[in-house]
Amino acid sequence: MNKQKVNVLNVSFDNLRQEELLAQLNHRIQIQQKTFVVTANPEIVMYANQYPNYMDIIKKADYITPDGIGIVKAARMLKTPIIERVAGYDLMLELLKNADKLNQSIYLLGAKEEVILKTVKKIKTEFPNIKLKGYHNGYFELTDKTLLNQAVEAQADIIFVGLGFPKQEEWIQNYLQHVTKGLAMGVGGSFDAYTGTVKRAPAIFIKMNLEWFYRLLKQPTRFKRMLMIPKFLLAVQKEKRKR
Ligand code: UDP
Repeated sequence: MNKQKVNVLNVSFDNLRQEELLAQLNHRIQIQQKTFVVTANPEIVMYANQYPNYMDIIKKADYITPDGIGIVKAARMLKTPIIERVAGYDLMLELLKNADKLNQSIYLLGAKEEVILKTVKKIKTEFPNIKLKGYHNGYFELTDKTLLNQAVEAQADIIFVGLGFPKQEEWIQNYLQHVTKGLAMGVGGSFDAYTGTVKRAPAIFIKMNLEWFYRLLKQPTRFKRMLMIPKFLLAVQKEKRKR
């Protein structure tokens, strides 16, 4: 097996430091190579194992990054450790920083109207050199071609899609069939986090790998979704015995 890949329940993660990953992504943006990035957490891995169509989509990704400490723990349990967690949110911010330095262009899709407007405003102030090619909220008919065409015509170097999974990856797969260049990445609720609509955990929680706990306290509605984590760990245990 490629040393730079780690398999967790049939999902093949790139085992790279965030810095190395960013360098590779940036290179691909500069040479205009089409790139699909999936940041996968345990929920995504479980969902992909349940829905083959979604698994097929994420298998087409050029990079799958370990988003969440659950994936890092699972890899350790399977005795194929992952170097570090690469959170989708952090990756988005780093890509924005790069884009600002290199005058790259972006397109933003997802979140509620007020959140995407705030995101646009904040990006314009924080990263004045980024060319914003367009944006749209995430509440539209997935079959609507107008929005897809708009995004395709924008020819952005980077498109961030925050529709939550599996929608964002489904949309990206379709989008990538129509463009010749650009990096596309699903960012979940990152626009909400970026604008402070949903607060990210204080540094101490992140450092202690307790970000999930903080989010649970802040958004108790996530509880049902989190029940999936023990199921994920059980599945990993089973896989470990099999190996
Ligand atoms: N969202 C959207 N369109 C939809 C459903 C969700 O734009 O039809 C957005 C929602 O507003 C939020 C994000 O998708 O900004 C999903 O956030 P969530 O916290 O569920 O994703 P996670 O970060 O956990 O992947």
